[in-house]
Amino acid sequence: MTRRSKIVCTLGPASDAPRVLGGMIAAGMDVARLNFSHGDAAQHRARVEAVRREARRARRNVAILQDLQGPKLRLGRFAEGRVELVSGETVLLVTAPSVVGSPRVIPVALPSLARACRVGDPVLLDDGRVRLRISRRRGRDLEAEVEFGGPLSDHKGVALPGSTVSIPAFTPKDRRDAALGRALGVDLVAMSFVRTVRDLAQARRHLAPRTPLIAKMEKPQAIENLEAIVRAADGIMVARGDLGVELPLERVPGIQKRLVRQANLLGKPCIVATEMLESMIQAPRPTRAEVSDVANAVMDGADAVMLSAETAVGHDPVAAVATMARIVEEAERSAPARLRPTLDGNQVSAGIAAAAVEAARSSGAKVIVAYTESGYTARLVAAFRPPMPILALTPNEPVVHQLAVVWCVEAHRVPRVRSTDAVMSRARTEVRRRGLAGPGDHMAIVAGVPLNEPGNTNLLTVQPV
Ligand code: PGA
Ligand code: MN
Repeated sequence: MTRRSKIVCTLGPASDAPRVLGGMIAAGMDVARLNFSHGDAAQHRARVEAVRREARRARRNVAILQDLQGPKLRLGRFAEGRVELVSGETVLLVTAPSVVGSPRVIPVALPSLARACRVGDPVLLDDGRVRLRISRRRGRDLEAEVEFGGPLSDHKGVALPGSTVSIPAFTPKDRRDAALGRALGVDLVAMSFVRTVRDLAQARRHLAPRTPLIAKMEKPQAIENLEAIVRAADGIMVARGDLGVELPLERVPGIQKRLVRQANLLGKPCIVATEMLESMIQAPRPTRAEVSDVANAVMDGADAVMLSAETAVGHDPVAAVATMARIVEEAERSAPARLRPTLDGNQVSAGIAAAAVEAARSSGAKVIVAYTESGYTARLVAAFRPPMPILALTPNEPVVHQLAVVWCVEAHRVPRVRSTDAVMSRARTEVRRRGLAGPGDHMAIVAGVPLNEPGNTNLLTVQPV
């Protein structure tokens, strides 16, 4: 594999056929995202099984990312399933839970809505495709003018950028879904609408031990707490869909760059998400602007780029993945020099990882091998963005999957080794077997002694292959 940045694909009805899912893996999907805003337990279970089956068949490492819905406020249902709001008209936002909607009655089952909003506040529906402005309070309900009309259907998202609505970031549904995710053995979990470090701590209590938690950055408050959240999370997602309704759209590009930079500085994986190849939901080719967007995310330093509706409900998910892979590979050829990270935690480990990249570079080594119990050593090396591949060898199957989202890392499971000599001979075997280097080439090897204890990277050697 020559591509270094990873590709996350959202699964959905369009990707369910084994031929399509297999095609997405062959085209370069590294992480399959299960969107828990949609679908039921049986569907999620079937998708987990299908990904495991197709990945095994293709002999590829594909991780499963569970994306929890979080406290997204949603519309209720409409009598006909959908309505058309007309610009200039007045509608009533009704908060009683059992109300069914009509063209003039918009159900939003949040009893505290009227208290949390003020006259003059905007209300953005369906990621901002429809916009209202609150004109009057009527008891527990609100009257609003339709500024931009358009179609609305059941359960579309509601954003209240001006309001003080506060729903806990981890909902009862998230709790049930996290339990299901544990039972299904998901590899990574993403938390939506994180605002503070405390939100992350709350979610962690419900995850299987050592499951990496990705903070979705989509709230203004999260941007204010950006550095602390990146430190506390195991990775972040630049969730541009909701970010673009919670904040003015034009602020999204600048925030994206700040987020990627902060994640790079702290050595945390960063996924850039939403609308990346949006026009490929229908069209066979992306727009120039979309190609540029994917390429710029890679050049900024994203570990991974994500497809959403393009693969979940698009007309050709395999073409979307193949297109993204091509754009990423080309962008990587012109990626600029990287920042030097300043990592938290064990400074011996950080120093060894930096030295490994330096030693590999100056000795002309073709690959850096990281023997890693927890994935920590491989992630540290990746943080220093070496120009050669990183081969992570680990005795732990979940770690193989967790590393699928990390920039440049190719991970494989190997038998547990007992001595540093065994690490070196295993590294040599795996490097040759995978064609990463051959006789006459050098490889750098990093590990921690005592072996098989996580979190201490303290050994570096450069050896002939
Ligand atoms: P979502 O998250 O697709 O779950 O809303 C991504 C985003 O908001 O961009
Ligand atoms: Mn979102």
